[in-house]
Formats: sequence, structure tokens, C-alpha cells
Amino acid sequence: MTERVTIPLTDWRSIVPAVPAHPQPLPGLLADALGRPLHDLRISVTDRCNFRCSYCMPKEVFDKYHEFLPHAELLSFEEITRLARLFVSLGVRKLRLTGGEPLLRRHLERLIEMLAAIRTPDGTPLDLTLTTNGSLLARKARALKAAGLQRVTVSLDGLDDAVFQRMNDVGFPVAEVLQGIEAALEAGLGPIKVNMVVKRGVNEDQILPMARHFRTQYGGRVVLRFIEYMDVGATNGWRMDEVVPSRELLARLGREFELKPLSASAPGETAERWAYADGRGEIGLISSVTQAFCGDCNRARLSTEGKLYTCLFAHSGHDLRALLRGGRTDLEIGAALGGLWGRRSDRYSQLRSSQQDPAAASTERRVEMHYIGG
Ligand code: SAM
Ligand code: SF4
Ligand code: SF4
Repeated sequence: MTERVTIPLTDWRSIVPAVPAHPQPLPGLLADALGRPLHDLRISVTDRCNFRCSYCMPKEVFDKYHEFLPHAELLSFEEITRLARLFVSLGVRKLRLTGGEPLLRRHLERLIEMLAAIRTPDGTPLDLTLTTNGSLLARKARALKAAGLQRVTVSLDGLDDAVFQRMNDVGFPVAEVLQGIEAALEAGLGPIKVNMVVKRGVNEDQILPMARHFRTQYGGRVVLRFIEYMDVGATNGWRMDEVVPSRELLARLGREFELKPLSASAPGETAERWAYADGRGEIGLISSVTQAFCGDCNRARLSTEGKLYTCLFAHSGHDLRALLRGGRTDLEIGAALGGLWGRRSDRYSQLRSSQQDPAAASTERRVEMHYIGG
């Protein structure tokens, strides 16, 4: 049975407008309890994936007996679009589709078309992007672009086939992901970000080959970002000694390349940017473990079956599907969203690094990455 959550509405009715077809600007910027605006919405369109990356969906847990969500539990494209429109009325300017593997969701292009038609209150199109493991990208890049997708982020953890296949744990070859990246560039989905999760003792030896490859091969149209292996979820058996801190990674890169810091491209940007001193491209460092960026975290996450998570490390989400399917009006749902964001005080990484709240590090019931998206 669907779990129902009652969300108090009264406080926000007076200030959150109804947003059926024509979103109206808010009379003032919506901020959470720590003063952070709502800017980014990550939408997980499926909890399924054709990879079994050990840091995300370890094979031993996500085996043939694992029950994924039945189709009726998933938000429909219409429901996702309705929520996205309401989020836009509250300040969201960037939508990222994720998963699981988003390209496994059937007819995803149709959802992209629907989301691409949304405009901000002043009539501007949204920043619309997608994160993928790249396995289906070569086949789908043109259709995604035609539907209105602007950019893609591709995950790739190494250039050596043995290393990469061990990490994706389904024997998927590097060459096909590279073909996907090339197809996406050709289709006009650039500049492309490539995300590499670095795990000590597993793909550390891929740091330099990846840096060399992406700096020279695509004329600056691909930005490689190194991500610290995170303690997200409760199934990956995370250990701190498997994290390669960004400072250490930078020092290793520094032995071969001269790098200079760049300023952040946007407030709330997760990656610290560094440029190659010779002007040939840049890299990003996402230090989710060693340098908490909760202070300007402006991201909300919508799970596959319509739960709102205000932090990647949350233990539970807020059931928006119950509101959608319970006949609530846009006014009511918009008010509920505003109320939820207004009360948000999550700052898990900050608490963990300052160790003010050791309980925050408990993995009990913590949401899984493939279900909520990165
Ligand atoms: N399947 C798609 C993909 O892999 O790009 C989209 C979903 S995946 C959950 C989104 C991002 O989260 C990927 O870049 C992945 O590498 C990253 N990720 C997953 N588990 C992680 C972990 N434990 N630590 C750091 N990044 C992680
Ligand atoms: Fe799948 Fe992406 Fe998770 Fe890897 S990181 S298992 S590709 S959802
Ligand atoms: Fe945002 Fe939560 Fe990550 Fe902090 S821990 S940056 S609040 S998602």
C-alpha cells in the first residue's frame, strides 16, 4: 500500500502561487532553513541499471532476486513534468535526469521534449541535462539532442578494459563508452563532463591515463571530473581508506601537469575547477568526502517513485506521488514543496567532517545512489 505523508500546507499558501501552465515568479527568493536557494532538481527516472558498479549497485546485493520497482510505482512522464513545472515556479533552473541508468527508461525522449518545453517565469528555457553510464549513448545521442537535451555527463572510471570491466562488473568495454562520448559530441551535446569515481587500489592507476586522454582527444570539449568515493547508501561497504582525497589526486596530477585554479562556474557548483596552464582544457575535483560543500547545496532530488529527498544522505523522502495521485491541486502541491524546502536543514557532509554528530555517519536505512541518482 502507498505510504501517505501529510504535509502541512497553511504556512505557505499565502506565498506560493498556483502553477498550472504559466508559472509566476515568487515574491522573493525561496530559501531553506540555512538560507540556501532551490536551484537544481535531479530526477531519477528508473531504479534499474545494466551496470553493477561496486560502489553503487554491488552485484551481491543487486542480484537476480532483487526486486526493482514495478512500472505502476514509477512517476509517469506527465507526473514528472507537472512536478518539474512546480519546482521551476519555486526557483529551480536546472534539471538533471539520472537513475539508475536513465537511458533504460523507455521513450525517455518524450519526457525530454516535455521538460524542454518548460520556461522559467521570465520565459527562459531551463538548463536540461542527463547523467549516463554511456552504454546506450552512441545509439541515442541524436534523438536526445533532437528532443531538446542540452548536455550530458558520462561516467567512466578508467581507460583500461580490465579495470573498467571490473568496476562496472558486467564486462562492459571502454570502447563503447568512448563511442557514446563521440556520438554525443557529434550530436551537439557538448561540452561533456566525464565523471570518474576514484577508489584506492582499484582504479588509481587510471588517473593519469584518463587525464592525458581527455585533455588531448576532444579539443577541450570534454571536462574530466574526479569524484571522491562517497559513503552514500548502505550496501557498498564504504571505507575511508578507499577514498583518494582530492588533494592527493591533485598532487599526483601536479607531477605531470601544471595546473592553476579557476573560479567556480556557478554558485553551488560541486566541482573545484583547475585549468591546465598551457590552456589545453580543465579538470574538476568533486571532494564530497574531504571538503563538504553543504554550505551552498541547492539541490533537490526526486526519486523514481516520486519521493523528494533534500539530501543525498537522507534516510527518508517525502511522498509527492501521494499528493499527485491524491487529487491535490497545483496550489497545494506547490505550497507543500515550498514548505518542505523552507524547513530543510540537511548538511550531512559538514556534520560528518566536523564530527559534531557522529550519528550522522550511521548507514541505517540511508537511501541508495542508484535509486535517487547522483
Ligand atoms: N547510471 C548513471 C551513471 O552512472 O552515470 C547515472 C546514475 S549514477 C548513480 C550517477 C553518478 O553517481 C555517477 O557518476 C556515479 O559514478 C556516481 N556514484 C555512484 N555511487 C557513487 C559513490 N559511492 N561515490 C561517488 N560517486 C558515486
Ligand atoms: Fe549503474 Fe550508474 Fe550506479 Fe554504475 S553508478 S551501477 S552505472 S546507476
Ligand atoms: Fe547537499 Fe546533503 Fe551533500 Fe551536504 S551532504 S552537499 S546537504 S546533498
